[in-house]
Amino acid sequence: MSDKIDAVLHEERSIAPPTDFARSARYSAEQYRELYAQSLADPDTFWSKAADELHWFRRWDQVLDWQEPHARWFVNGQTNMAYNALDRHVQAGRGDKRAIVWEGEDGEVRTYTYAELLREVQRAANVLESLGVKAGDRVTVYLPLIPEVVISLLACARIGATHSVVFAGFSVSALADRIENAQSRLLITADAGYRRGAQVPLKANADRAAESAPSLQQMLVVARAGAAVEMEPGRDVWWHEAMAQAGTEHQAVPLDSEHPLFVLYTSGSTGKPKGILHTTGGYMVSLHLTTGAVFDLKDDDLLWCTADVGWVTGHSYTVYGPLLNGATVMIYEGAPNQPDWGRYWDIIQRHKVSILYTAPTAIRSFMRAGDEIPERFDLSSLRLIGSVGEPINPEAWMWYRRVIGGDRCPVIDTWWQTETGSIMLTTLPGAFPSKPGTAGLPMFGVDPAIVTRDGEEVGPGEGGLLVLRRPWPSMLRTVYGDDDRYRKTYWGEIPHVYFAGDGARRDSDGYITVMGRVDDVLNVSGHRLGTMEIESALVSHPAVAEAAVVGRPDDVKGECVVAFVLPQVGHTVDPAELRQHVAREIGALARPDAIYVADALPKTRSGKIMRRFLRQVAAGQQITGDTSTLEDPSVLERLQTTPAQ
Ligand code: ATP
Ligand code: MG
Repeated sequence: MSDKIDAVLHEERSIAPPTDFARSARYSAEQYRELYAQSLADPDTFWSKAADELHWFRRWDQVLDWQEPHARWFVNGQTNMAYNALDRHVQAGRGDKRAIVWEGEDGEVRTYTYAELLREVQRAANVLESLGVKAGDRVTVYLPLIPEVVISLLACARIGATHSVVFAGFSVSALADRIENAQSRLLITADAGYRRGAQVPLKANADRAAESAPSLQQMLVVARAGAAVEMEPGRDVWWHEAMAQAGTEHQAVPLDSEHPLFVLYTSGSTGKPKGILHTTGGYMVSLHLTTGAVFDLKDDDLLWCTADVGWVTGHSYTVYGPLLNGATVMIYEGAPNQPDWGRYWDIIQRHKVSILYTAPTAIRSFMRAGDEIPERFDLSSLRLIGSVGEPINPEAWMWYRRVIGGDRCPVIDTWWQTETGSIMLTTLPGAFPSKPGTAGLPMFGVDPAIVTRDGEEVGPGEGGLLVLRRPWPSMLRTVYGDDDRYRKTYWGEIPHVYFAGDGARRDSDGYITVMGRVDDVLNVSGHRLGTMEIESALVSHPAVAEAAVVGRPDDVKGECVVAFVLPQVGHTVDPAELRQHVAREIGALARPDAIYVADALPKTRSGKIMRRFLRQVAAGQQITGDTSTLEDPSVLERLQTTPAQ
């Protein structure tokens, strides 16, 4: 089998960084090149310098101990994540700076300065200790996007408890599985959460999950929505009551650099969720470095990463990265269309958000809702906008830059994974021109290559498998409780490199474009086609807002292309015309044999298109496999009765 992926989309646009932005940017192209070269040639010096910007109770003896596939970073160093994210800033006299600006779906606003957040975290750390939670214990967090989720994470980190956040949209059985897998002894939840105006009964879900999760001994319950709940005496404690009794003094516990910081289950686009384990020191150093560099952080920025803390993006770029940098974060509890599709722009206008970091799924929804909505708001506070989570189609990228970024803000497309912990590929704003749909260059210390299954590099412009050739500080350490799966999935596929599971190509400037998941690659008449390029061609048609393509077994071609498209509001899709459009844009080979016009696409709860079920729909098969991570399973039922055109 060939492992190359055909490159069919030809995107020639390149957009220079705005002069003003470039002038005050943290890194110029020369500085990046010099530091990047050093990070590969002399990683000890590079990473020691990066780590020295943070506080260590004991300095490390060795930067990296690499016993493939296991890495230990900053060996024998002792530090504390919460201390670095909070105490360090307060002690330096920055206690009055805002750490969090939070807005509820109902419009309530709460802010916390660094000093206030530190006090709350100290209290919460005392609460955890009073409940008997010790360093090394696991704590599952099942909370809406409210300040208490940040406080919980930092309190766990402060005492060395390993947190495992389960997105509040997950069901009882998904929650129970994750509590059991992590063997958590404490669950932090809320009476209920708000989602699109409705209440989600979190405590009732937690009660049912507890029935099949015997490791669970206690529940700490935040009163968020005033919902009636049953509190089991001896097991359940109200957060506000425990906090009121707890002292505000707490010494952060010095922890080994490799102490487990968190377990996080991946969103499940491709199969059974894996518990990804991250540890303390290396993750901390990577997050401190990448947040400053990639977002070009300035002291007066208001950074809004819209991801829920239930996903790695929220862990890394709402909580840990920004707070380690002493930045101010915006957090919004609710849905982007509450009460309408103007909510994000209203928040940006009122709070003067300067950096927006969101996902292609949101961007495509905003496009679909129409330009007139964002155009009603003053978005001039924005200076940088970013994307993460899926490949962004060049047309969506251009729309984002023009309508949200006012043709003025650089757009950063950032490729990374739950497993990588921090951003791996992007185009540093201010340093380099950006190319729509292309993530760009490696971050410091990241050594990517595009290879075949034997590990041989493919040529410039050719598509292949994206791998990372050396360990980096924030890499996953293992799959929780299943080291064998860790070895096989990430280090066993291609000799001696980390296999990301994505396809990509690199152009002659060294920019890397991610072409979609390798599992989703189509094989049409002997050509291997990534999903991103065909979908991008579909989305570039004015009548199409969003698209997903999959292969369907075909006697003649091996596989043929099947497209699922969501029409742009106010447009109808003409299948014949759309076929022609794809053929014109990227070639007859990619012309869809069947087109389904859908009213929604199946997505994970983190908003990613889930193609494995679409393959079953396209082949006319029964839907099989774990659908628990689907946001709305009824989408599939509707698609099964939709005629192909
Ligand atoms: P699972 O591994 O359980 O299937 P998942 O891969 O969706 O879930 P995440 O770790 O949240 O879980 O997502 C990482 C993946 O998202 C990447 O491997 C890649 O496929 C995709 N991705 C993230 N950012 C980008 C980006 N900027 N461009 C292209 N793809 C991206
Ligand atoms: Mg993945």
